Formats: sequence, C-alpha cells, structure tokens
Amino acid sequence: MGRQRDLITQILGYRGWKVRSWRWESADGRAIVPLRNHVPADAVLVIELERRWAARCSHCLAICSKLHERGKVRRWEELPAIGHRVVLEYAPERVKCKACGSCPTELLAWADPKQRQTRRLQHHLALDALSMPLTHVAVKYRLSWRTVRRSEVAAFERWHSTRPESPLEEVGLDEKWLGRRHKSGHKFVTIASNLRSGEPVWIGYGRSEADVKRFLDTLTAEKKSKIKLFACDMHKPFHAAIRSDEQLAHAAIVHDPFHIMKRAGEAVTELRRQIFFRAGPELRAIGRGTRWLVLRPWERLGEEDQIKLNKLFALNNKLMRAYQVLEELREALKAPDGATMRKALQHILYRTEKKSNVPMRKLHDSLRGHYDGIVALAEHRPPTGRLEALNNNWETLVRRGRGYRDHQYLFRKLQFITANPVRTAQGADRFLALGLAAPTSAAA
Ligand SMILES: [Zn+2]
Repeated sequence: MGRQRDLITQILGYRGWKVRSWRWESADGRAIVPLRNHVPADAVLVIELERRWAARCSHCLAICSKLHERGKVRRWEELPAIGHRVVLEYAPERVKCKACGSCPTELLAWADPKQRQTRRLQHHLALDALSMPLTHVAVKYRLSWRTVRRSEVAAFERWHSTRPESPLEEVGLDEKWLGRRHKSGHKFVTIASNLRSGEPVWIGYGRSEADVKRFLDTLTAEKKSKIKLFACDMHKPFHAAIRSDEQLAHAAIVHDPFHIMKRAGEAVTELRRQIFFRAGPELRAIGRGTRWLVLRPWERLGEEDQIKLNKLFALNNKLMRAYQVLEELREALKAPDGATMRKALQHILYRTEKKSNVPMRKLHDSLRGHYDGIVALAEHRPPTGRLEALNNNWETLVRRGRGYRDHQYLFRKLQFITANPVRTAQGADRFLALGLAAPTSAAA
C-alpha cells in the first residue's frame, strides 16, 4: 500500500501534500468495491489528501501554527486520468494568521480559494476551449458549460497576472456589433486596444461618448500622459470623448485606414445600387455579381474579373470614376508624409465634388469632415496592421455566440486569443505549467 500511495502522490505532484487514501465511486456517489480488479468505465477516482508541512495563510502565505477551526470535507475536480474522472478530497482548516491578523482558509497547493476545480484542470479546460466549442469541452469533462467558462476566466487571469505590462502609447478605439442573436440592451461594444501588441486593453458595452469616457477614467494621469495617439473610426462620440479630456490634449487623433476604406466602399456600393435600379437589361446582365468586385483593389483581381469590370465600366462612366476614386483613396492612405497625403486628398475631394452624384458627394463631405484625422494618419503612421487580427478574433468569438453578457470573460478571452500564447508546444507547456505553480515556493 505504501509504495502505491507514494506513486499516486508523485503523479499528483503537489509539494507538501501526500495521498492518505483512494477509493472508487460511481458517478452518482456510491462507493464501488472493485471485483477482480474491475471498475466500471464511468467510475470516479476519489483521492483523499493530507498535508505534510505546516499550514500557510492563503492571504499572505505566512506559515501559521495556530489552528482556528477545522473545516468540512471539500472536493475539487481534478484533471481526468486514463479515462476516469478524478476528484480530490480534503478538509481545509481555517488558520489564525499572526502575520496578517486574519483567519483565512489554509493555502492549498492545487486550487485557488473558493474554486472547485484544480488549477491544473482549469488550464486544460482553457486550452481545450480555445479550439472547441464550450459545450464540447463541457461534455468531454462532464462539467457544466458555466463551470468551464469560469475555469477559463480563472486560467486567463492567472496567465494575465504573469505578463509584463506593455506600455500603452498608441490606442485603437473601435465599435463592434454584438451580432444579430444578441438580445440584451446593448447592440454594440467599444473595444480599446494597444496598437503595438494588437491586444485589447478594455471592453465596454455601448458606443457613446460616455462609454469611451468610462475607459478613459480607468487610466491614471501618468498613463494618459504617455499616450501619443488614438486611432479610431469616424464615429463622432469617440472624438468628442477624447477631446473633452484635458489630460489628453497632447494626443493626436487619427482615423484608421480600415474604416476610411469601409466608408468609401459603402459610397460605391450605394452608387452601384442606384445605377442598377434604373439600368437596362444589358447593363444588368453585366453588372450581376459585381457588388464585391467593385470594392476590391484592381491589382488583386484576377484577369477574368478585370475583363468583367472593364465591360461594366465601358457601359457606365459614373461607376468607373467612382472605382478610380476608391483606388486613388487606397493609394493616398499609404502616403509617406502629410504633404503627399494632402495633395492626394485634394485631388479626391475635387473628383467627388459634384452635388448631383449623391453617394460620392456624401463621401466627399465625410472625407472633408475628417480631413485632419486622415492627414494625421500620414504624419503619425500608427501600426494599425494588427487591428485586423483583433477584428477577425472578435468575429470568431461572436460567431461562437456565448459569453456576451459576461464582460470579463469576453475581454480576457479576446485578449488571450489575440496574444495566442499557446501557438507553439513550448507556449502551451508554459501555459499549462501556470496551473501547477506552487505558491509556497514563491513565498519562501
Ligand atoms: Zn496571513
């Protein structure tokens, strides 16, 4: 018995703790006595633990020799072993801590206070949930999806607390639609991100000036002083919120190219719709299926598509000119400096001036209204390349359709999948090892 017990202690690997006994239980909690060493497939292995060293305070990690109160027997779900659920059992004591004067529950090597899963399990759940729907993970581990989600948050928080804080100098502000299926009061969220790392730093429901202010209020004066610029879409309340903050007077506001092109694309789409509304059969035949074609850069079109567009443009000059404006704008946004950008923008404004062409004139007004922010883009060249990754991750998260209302979950998960620390075997090992870190060694 002794050697077997040592073996299980070794497998568990919690320093300072040893196995007192183990037994089998059925899934509904009845004791099972194995006949001829046979246990049913759904039997649960219950491992009773025992502390070998002195108890420690879970608040301050100090060694406590005084017992305050004996606790009840509690259970923790452990990582399954060889197809069987494993449950840890222990009666934690409440200690009288001289160092911090409180009477907390003793420190446990396998779980955080108030959690009912071991840290090890939490990290495995979080890793699985990265590529599996939450419901699948829940079924695999025979847990509720709420438990899986709570475990994910706990694992992400632990991961986050081990990361060095990266300086926030360039901030991206973006509004995101929560999707058609979302039923609660807010249809949008505002996401603030660090443009250097591409990671979100804040998420809040709504997209009004007050919502952005809530984010700005989380920043200290020192942090605000370090922010060099904000890159946001052409949504006015964002602009207003930043400008109404005196501590951010030094920060530049630039418009991110992604949203400028989106606005321009909308104008061309509208123009195309207008044209086809009145079009004859010939134009209709050629124009069918060109909705996305007219939004794509010429150089990224295949030869067939280029021929198709050329035919369309031969029949309609207005649409051709709009397409050219789109191409020019795309080039202009790559301008290396303010002067080049100004010159290019002037030309585009000139070409979209005509009041009779309503969609393009709307674009004209919009570009003129945000002129400074667009020119500032060329002057500051913020690293907006990573915003696309954040956008894609957001789409994936929303498509999965869970966790909309759990604000902290949404935020940490988006942060985690954007940083993606587990894309290599090494990274995954490191992430899982966070579930094993013995807090006692940190205290020594
Ligand atoms: Zn203490």
